[in-house]
Amino acid sequence: MKKVYLETFGCQMNVSDSERVATSLAKNGFEITPVETEADVVLINTCSVREKAEQKLYTRVGEIRNSFEKKPLVGVLGCVAQLEGETLFDKIEGIDAIVGTKAVGRISHIIDRVLDGEDGIVDLGEREKEYDWTVSDPQRHSPFVAFVPIIEGCNKFCTYCIVPFSRGREVSLPASEIIRSILEMRRSGIKEVHLIGQNVNSYRPTTDSGLEGFHGKTPFSRLLRAVAATGVERVKFNTSFPRDFRSDIVDAINEHENLCNWVHLPVQSGSDRILRSMKRGHTVESYRRKIDYIRASPRDISITTDIIVGFPGETDADFDETMRLAEYAGYDQAYIFKYSPRPGTPAFDMADDVAPEVKTRRFRELETVQRRTQNRRLERYIGRVLDVLVERPATRHSEQVSGHSPCHKVVNFAGPREMIGQIVKVRISEIRSNSLFGTLDRTA
Ligand code: SF4
Repeated sequence: MKKVYLETFGCQMNVSDSERVATSLAKNGFEITPVETEADVVLINTCSVREKAEQKLYTRVGEIRNSFEKKPLVGVLGCVAQLEGETLFDKIEGIDAIVGTKAVGRISHIIDRVLDGEDGIVDLGEREKEYDWTVSDPQRHSPFVAFVPIIEGCNKFCTYCIVPFSRGREVSLPASEIIRSILEMRRSGIKEVHLIGQNVNSYRPTTDSGLEGFHGKTPFSRLLRAVAATGVERVKFNTSFPRDFRSDIVDAINEHENLCNWVHLPVQSGSDRILRSMKRGHTVESYRRKIDYIRASPRDISITTDIIVGFPGETDADFDETMRLAEYAGYDQAYIFKYSPRPGTPAFDMADDVAPEVKTRRFRELETVQRRTQNRRLERYIGRVLDVLVERPATRHSEQVSGHSPCHKVVNFAGPREMIGQIVKVRISEIRSNSLFGTLDRTA
């Protein structure tokens, strides 16, 4: 039996694709190995959103080719494969196959061809009509948490982003299929599902099948209610696009306890001028109104975001507006990035005119403000009891276990490994940088 080692970079959609690849390979007679040096084939599922992730691919192929005693065949999957196509053969020595974002359903066949000695395989074709998004008996990254794609691709074309080119246009999956697979997951022990997509609130299936009888102005809020009705213990979703984020999503969270109180709402900038240049389609004012509505929820919803500093043309005044908006929003967490031009995006043709040291200074200033806000937000949990889905042993302390709250905070506490997979009550006693610490609460 040939052994395949699968390495994944990037977003949850890539993790989800890799799960499908692993499932398909296992069903077709391959063994998925966690030991890279034992592999006959190494597959690297790539991300091109940030330059760093793309650079990793170059480094990894070199390492695999030069350091492994057993010289495995190497396949490149995902966004870099889709964008670069066969030019990757010229750029990186030692690649045997290039498999685009929509060709992953044919992976077993492609590996068979590579093992039969065929050279230079490139498959950037479309998905098969019968592509199974909801594979049964899957290989998952966790036995308790599942990523469920509901929409793939993006139609928004934010000027800095490569996703519409690497993933193509939006395709929504049928609600009836999503519901069916979540019911199956629930039966197999999954406690938490993440509805995923580049832009979940643009969800627009071609039929209403599966959503009949569920109210809400947008199909996504109807889907949230339909998923809540499956009875699965926790439902999270991301990523949300501010322009399409409607109040009915918050209304659905308010109505259903199992819709978790966490919203990831990337703002990217607090300056209307820069938002226009990014073609985000929202203004500072419209974004603030959405934040106000979320904050007014009785569910105490935690809000996280993404922010880019140093976008082309960003002045100190623009950046000050971003600082003001970050303070206004009071994010529970912000992922801050220094802008770097990505080839193939519209912004690549704009002058990257913010000096690297200015980007670094803005990054640090925003990080300092955000850290203060984050600590303030975390402090409010001290003394509270949170429901924690225990997912793994804690990384640093062998007597501790670690999991997530519904508001998507990492919580660590002293507890036996037998608790992994259970939802338990933890009283929070301490905050440490990005996580919470507490003790098991048997009284609540
Ligand atoms: S909404 Fe914008 S940032 Fe998000 S995936 Fe689409 S183009 Fe990229």
